Amino acid sequence: MSTDMTATAGICIVGTGHAGSELAFSLRQQGWEGRITLIGEEPHLPYQRPPLSKAFLKGEVVPESLYLRPPASYEQANIELQLGQRVAQVDRERKVLVFADGSERAYEKLALATGGRPRTLSLETQSATNLHYLRTLDDASAIRAGFLAGQRLVIIGGGYVGLEVAASAISQGLKVTVLENRERLLARVTSTEMSDFYAKVHRDAGVDVRTGVDVNGFTFQGARVRAVECAGQESIGADMVVVGIGLLPNVELAQAAGLEVNDGIVVDAGSLTSDADIVAVGDCASFPIEACGRVRLESVPNALEQARCAAATLVGKQRAYQGVPWFWSDQYDLKLQMTGVSQGADQVVLRGDPEQRSFVAFYLKDGVLIACDAVNRPQDFMLAKRMVAAVQAFDVAALVDETVALKTLAPPLARPA
Ligand code: FAD
Repeated sequence: MSTDMTATAGICIVGTGHAGSELAFSLRQQGWEGRITLIGEEPHLPYQRPPLSKAFLKGEVVPESLYLRPPASYEQANIELQLGQRVAQVDRERKVLVFADGSERAYEKLALATGGRPRTLSLETQSATNLHYLRTLDDASAIRAGFLAGQRLVIIGGGYVGLEVAASAISQGLKVTVLENRERLLARVTSTEMSDFYAKVHRDAGVDVRTGVDVNGFTFQGARVRAVECAGQESIGADMVVVGIGLLPNVELAQAAGLEVNDGIVVDAGSLTSDADIVAVGDCASFPIEACGRVRLESVPNALEQARCAAATLVGKQRAYQGVPWFWSDQYDLKLQMTGVSQGADQVVLRGDPEQRSFVAFYLKDGVLIACDAVNRPQDFMLAKRMVAAVQAFDVAALVDETVALKTLAPPLARPA
């Protein structure tokens, strides 16, 4: 057991994901000259998660190519890395982190970038060796090892992660079934129009997509799942099962330390928690944003932008969250880009034809544009981001009319002050 209580405690960042590592480098860019320690439970250098369900599963990239920054950049920026170490407690009174092995580390300022973990099934899985969740590089490596042509993969959950795994698996010659308990795919995050489009895309590619299906158990053979049991259906034989049913934010550290938590760790627009020395960023944080209200978002662009705002706060500056949140998903030849928060929309209109695999869905509430999903339309998407950020009403007839150029509707690009 060791204790590092040097007088120059500096800033400690718990979590080495996109949010934590961006925060560390942003602190340097914004002029913080003190000590920065980036602490993470995973043994790997900070890496990108999005390719885990895409290029990595398809065997197109090796783990080292996922690193967020070259290994030498941490030393160059004088950022200390403490990998493979779990923080078990934040003692706010003493301003000390307590690690799982009992050692301690003082902090002057603290950033919680603890992300989230997969929501797990409330069914007996007997820790089957061929049943996986997907959040980490180690999870993805285990799944990739079972990606053998002809194998039967059953995916539980028709959200983005499940569907990306389905697209990757089909391209590797697996036989894929997706089981979704809601009546449509992506029900939690997008419109019926988008759900129908993606269901058709996957079925056309050979995925057996089943919606409205309740998984109620498994049949085992030794330490492996042999079949997935669903209410009112024949059991589905499986060589591997991947479960993607959502994320739980890692808020327990914050909660136990007495910080305000409501779904995520509650922060203000500058990412400050209810403790003036502690910020929280990324998937674990719930924050207010003008165009969307209070939200907790699970996306890389959000993690990066929040981290930059938090870095400013920690060095005593102010930086408003720039733009509106956005997210992307790659499946087959389709690049889906989404901006804004579509929940609460009372009107959805399409620009372009889904049959052409290139279109935009606009979401409006009381006539105000609140979100947009663009499929294979990167230029429209760039304009739509500005339009959603403007929080204003648009003429619906013009939005859907392809003869009206979107750039004539979008507000002008804001010039840097
Ligand atoms: P995380 O990446 O979860 O990092 C948190 C880190 O904190 C973890 O390494 C964790 O081990 C560590 N940690 C937690 N608690 C402790 C503790 N007590 N002590 C020490 N360390 C701790 N987003 C997109 O925008 N586009 C995509 O296409 C996309 N695809 C995705 C595909 C997959 C398979 C997954 C899993 C995610 C995807 N995402 C995508 C989401 C995106 O990756 C996340 O929103 C983003 O990584 C969040 O970063 P974060 O730093 O907030 O959290």
